[in-house]
Amino acid sequence: MDMADVKAELIDEARRLGFAACGVTSVRPFTEARTRALSAIDAGRMDGMAWYTRDRVEASADIGGRYPWARSIIALAWPYRPARPVHPSDPDGTIRGRFSAYACTEDGGRAVDYHDLLAQRCDALVAWLSERVDEVRAKRFVDHGWALDRAIAERAGIGFAGKHASVITVTAGSYVLLASVAVSVALPIDAPSQRGCGHCTACLPSCPTGAIVAPGVIDARRCISYLTIEHRGPIPEELRPLMGTWAFGCDLCQEACPINERLAPEPLAVGAPSTAHGPVPHPDLVECLELTDAEFTARFRGTAVSRTGRAGLARNCAIALGNAGDGGALPALRRSAATDPDAVVREAAHWGIAQLTGSRTQAPD
Ligand code: SF4
Ligand code: SF4
Repeated sequence: MDMADVKAELIDEARRLGFAACGVTSVRPFTEARTRALSAIDAGRMDGMAWYTRDRVEASADIGGRYPWARSIIALAWPYRPARPVHPSDPDGTIRGRFSAYACTEDGGRAVDYHDLLAQRCDALVAWLSERVDEVRAKRFVDHGWALDRAIAERAGIGFAGKHASVITVTAGSYVLLASVAVSVALPIDAPSQRGCGHCTACLPSCPTGAIVAPGVIDARRCISYLTIEHRGPIPEELRPLMGTWAFGCDLCQEACPINERLAPEPLAVGAPSTAHGPVPHPDLVECLELTDAEFTARFRGTAVSRTGRAGLARNCAIALGNAGDGGALPALRRSAATDPDAVVREAAHWGIAQLTGSRTQAPD
């Protein structure tokens, strides 16, 4: 079968599986992206992400060297729906925070971890390819895989890196999750995207913590996504008032992007009122602050939010409640400050109380 025909059908199949975009690039090393990633490590902008090492970058930049059988890389983008921002308090007094929209990924109405969802769809695409081409070998990479997924997406032409550092696709803006699959099939490659942000700079001032330190350059140490998901221990105190009511991730720079505004699908509404069945765009912060370990596991197991652990989410909610400015949170914050089993959560609860009352109620442990 002609490889141009295989590729055309592959792209159709990727769309049928739910991907917003699919392109193909070569296994040639990603030298520019490698240099950028190593510079970020050297400058300390990735501090706190112990897993993001120089060795990892070197290996990720050279998929062809690691997998000598690989002949091309399929780049894929999975669309997710943005959440509509709401006022932090409901009329009934519920104080709501925010979960990043990607954390609320669903499959058939069931909350799922996007890693699992994308891995499953990538495998389905490889299975499809294996029915058309003999003896296909494949290696997939989803987010934490050792691949420079943004560079792959750009070179395969499925999008371009915005000044907020996320890849912007034609059909779903930057509200996409990226995946890549190295395959032993020499598929025709695509040209890199020629599009770009132009003169727009709308996302730069939208970042409340100043984490976008230059166009396309994020200082992860200041990014709310990193602080609420990856960072362990107390969050630096000077950043806490800038974090708003984000309890998991942050979408502000994406929400500021006019391309997203034009191209993204219909925003999610407020969503389900509680997290009883998994992540929701606007979670009840008091409810999440007071979850037990067993309740946290029951609600968030198998979803992206499980990455914070119970104590990480409670820490984030204590800070978000301090920032929400609603004194109705004080009883819950006082309970957490006194009884939460985790010292980091107790300290964050004291901070939240101090934000709402103007003074620390008790010296933290
Ligand atoms: S995700 Fe939020 S904190 Fe991080 S760069 Fe974007 S706006 Fe800033
Ligand atoms: S807001 Fe403007 S500068 Fe930022 S990513 Fe979108 S188009 Fe690019």
